[in-house]
Amino acid sequence: MSTDHVVVIGGGVMGSSLAYWLTRLAPKLAVTVIERDPSYEYASSALSAASIRQQFSTPANIRISQASIEFLRNVGTELGIGDDRPDIQLREHGYLYLADAGGMARLRRAHELQRALGADVALLDPAELGGTFAWLNTADLSLGALGLRGEGWFDGYALLTAFGRKARSQGARYVKADVCGFDVDAGRVTAVLTSAGARIDCTHAVNAAGPWSRAIAALAGVDLPVFARRRSVYLISCPTDLKPFPLLIDPSGFWIRPDGNRFIAGFSPIDDPDDAPLTPDYAAFESHLWPLLSHRIPAFEAARLERAWAGYFEMNTFDHNAILGTHRSLENLLFMNGFSGHGMQQSPIIGRAVAELILHGRFISLDLSDLLFVRVETNRPLHEANVIG
Ligand SMILES: Cc1cc2nc3c(=O)[nH]c(=O)nc-3n(C[C@H](O)[C@H](O)[C@H](O)COP(=O)(O)OP(=O)(O)OC[C@H]3O[C@@H](n4cnc5c(N)ncnc54)[C@H](O)[C@@H]3O)c2cc1C
Repeated sequence: MSTDHVVVIGGGVMGSSLAYWLTRLAPKLAVTVIERDPSYEYASSALSAASIRQQFSTPANIRISQASIEFLRNVGTELGIGDDRPDIQLREHGYLYLADAGGMARLRRAHELQRALGADVALLDPAELGGTFAWLNTADLSLGALGLRGEGWFDGYALLTAFGRKARSQGARYVKADVCGFDVDAGRVTAVLTSAGARIDCTHAVNAAGPWSRAIAALAGVDLPVFARRRSVYLISCPTDLKPFPLLIDPSGFWIRPDGNRFIAGFSPIDDPDDAPLTPDYAAFESHLWPLLSHRIPAFEAARLERAWAGYFEMNTFDHNAILGTHRSLENLLFMNGFSGHGMQQSPIIGRAVAELILHGRFISLDLSDLLFVRVETNRPLHEANVIG
């Protein structure tokens, strides 16, 4: 193994988690992370809402979250360097999925699966919802699902930097460069090419380029169904004290959660072109989001928009789930892409899973075969119903 060299394209939370796991599990392995923008100005990992939930509709995603929350709870130990222990400010205040009459059956189905897999999620009828969350308008609601443990939010940028620092301390090398091609020989990538003219030999290459992963895949002749879709995040203040307040998912599609003593919120736009410029859609706050917010939380009629930002979801339009492992055309180019808005929370476990694929040729800790690229190649989608925003 000591002559092996893994080159990871993209040093966001996925690439950095992978670099951390590879250097932890195989300390003699050479690992190079190629990142074109070490400031992470446009990287999803720096623009994320960084929330974690157990409330998914597929077993693979629920199991990933169960393992991820354990990692996040212990992040100070996992990613500490000497006495320097990262603090990602994990807050386990739950997710509250709300359903109207039309969405009740789906919420119940997902809840049954979550409970069967051991997730601590409770169903609340409208009276219970109103009793627990006095600020909530329950008039048009039929049901809510509240995560009691293992759900909440954290500082995603702190997790990103903690992975990177720990990976470096274990020997990973970060290089600032823009990947622009591959050398391929007999179905194997032999080198990663950069726009500065460098040729970096490798035994494995990994596409961890987030919203830009489709372009990286295309350089290797692979059609990856992952598209960059802009999502605006609105930072809002509200004069009324509203506690307790979980991450709320409204039947209309918006989400909102506390952020310190303010709130952040967003929604999934109907008109959703690829690669829209990363300027937030301010107009949509007034015309779309605010009326919905004020309907669900009447105190928000007095809310104020403080500022907004936008980042890209790396949307897998095939089935909204992670795409992992190799494509049949190249045996040593691995993919870790397509997280469709839930990659931050999955990063600790996806990094470990892809490291295991590289080191052992199979998953060891958690079987994530359902997420392999082969399902896309053979047109067997694994649909995730609970995609947010
Ligand atoms: C607004 C928003 C809210 C979100 N909310 C949540 C949430 O609540 N919970 C959750 O789990 N997830 C959430 N996500 C999703 C999550 O942030 C992403 O899934 C995750 O950050 C993806 O990480 P990544 O490392 O794959 O991508 P990125 O962080 O985008 O990293 C990819 C890196 O690749 C680099 N790169 C690209 N092309 C090249 C090249 N040619 N050469 C060299 N480097 C290259 C880029 O510079 C970039 O730094 C959210 C995302 C957004 C945008």
